[in-house]
Amino acid sequence: MSTKPRVAVFDFADCEGCELQIANLEEEILDLLEIVDIVSFREVMKEHSDEYDIAIVEGSIMRPMDEKRLKYIRSKAKILVALGACATIGGVNKIRNQWMPEEVMKDVYGNAKVKGNELFNVNKTKAVNEVVPVDYYIHGCPIDRDEFKHVITALALGKKPEIPTYPVCVECKKNENVCLFERGMYCLGPITRAGCKAICPTNGSPCEGCRGLVKKAETECVWEVLERYNLSYEDIRRRCTMYNYGRAECGAQ
Ligand code: SF4
Ligand code: SF4
Ligand code: SF4
Repeated sequence: MSTKPRVAVFDFADCEGCELQIANLEEEILDLLEIVDIVSFREVMKEHSDEYDIAIVEGSIMRPMDEKRLKYIRSKAKILVALGACATIGGVNKIRNQWMPEEVMKDVYGNAKVKGNELFNVNKTKAVNEVVPVDYYIHGCPIDRDEFKHVITALALGKKPEIPTYPVCVECKKNENVCLFERGMYCLGPITRAGCKAICPTNGSPCEGCRGLVKKAETECVWEVLERYNLSYEDIRRRCTMYNYGRAECGAQ
C-alpha cells in the first residue's frame, strides 16, 4: 500500500476559482502526484474516498448543513488546509453579513417557496476557522499556484510551510514598482499579507486585500501613508469591505 499522504479537496460556497488554479497546474500536477495521492477532488475526478490525511477546503460556510459536513471532514482529516479567501477569511461572501440572512433571501428569491428546504437555510457567512480548527492557510482570491505547490510539498514532507507575514508593499518594492498612491490610487498593500508577488500593483491595479490582513500592521507607517496622501482611517475602513468585511482591524464594531 502507498505510504504517500492521501489528499482530498472539498468545496463549499465559492466560485471554485481556487480549485481551478490547482487544475491549471496541468503537467506540474504530476510532480505533486509523486509525493501525494489525491483521493477526492470533485472538480477533476469522479472517484471519492472518505479515507484521507489532508483535507483541503475551499469556500465559506453558509448553512447548518455545511457546518455538519465540514465537521465530518475535520473529523476524518489529520491536517486541514483552508484554500483561498472564501475559506481563509470568508472572502467576498462575507459582504452579505451586513444584512440579515432573511433580507438577503427575500432580495434574491422573492416569494419563491424555499421555506423548510435545507438547501436554502442560510446563516451569516463564516470562514472555515469559525467552525472547525484550521491547521494551515493558503491565501488569495484566487490562490497563487506556486504557493499551493510549496504548501502541499512541505506538508507531504512533514514540514511546516512558510507563508509570508509581512505586507504586500515588501514584494511591491522588490518589483521596483512606483507606488500607486503616487499615481492617485488607493492601495491596501501596507496592511495586506504578502505572498502573491504583489501581482495587482505590479500590473497597475491597487491591492484589494484578498490575502487578508497582516497580523500586526506597522501602524506608524500606515498612519504616515495616510497623512502623506491626505487620507483618513475611514478611507481604509471603507476599502476593506470587499475582502475583509467585519474584521475588527478594519473598524468593525
Ligand atoms: S477565494 Fe476567490 S477564486 Fe477562490 S473560490 Fe473564493 S471567490 Fe473563487
Ligand atoms: S501601497 Fe500598494 S502600490 Fe504602494 S508600495 Fe504598497 S503595495 Fe505597492
Ligand atoms: S495584490 Fe492584494 S488583491 Fe492582489 S492578489 Fe495580492 S493580496 Fe490579493
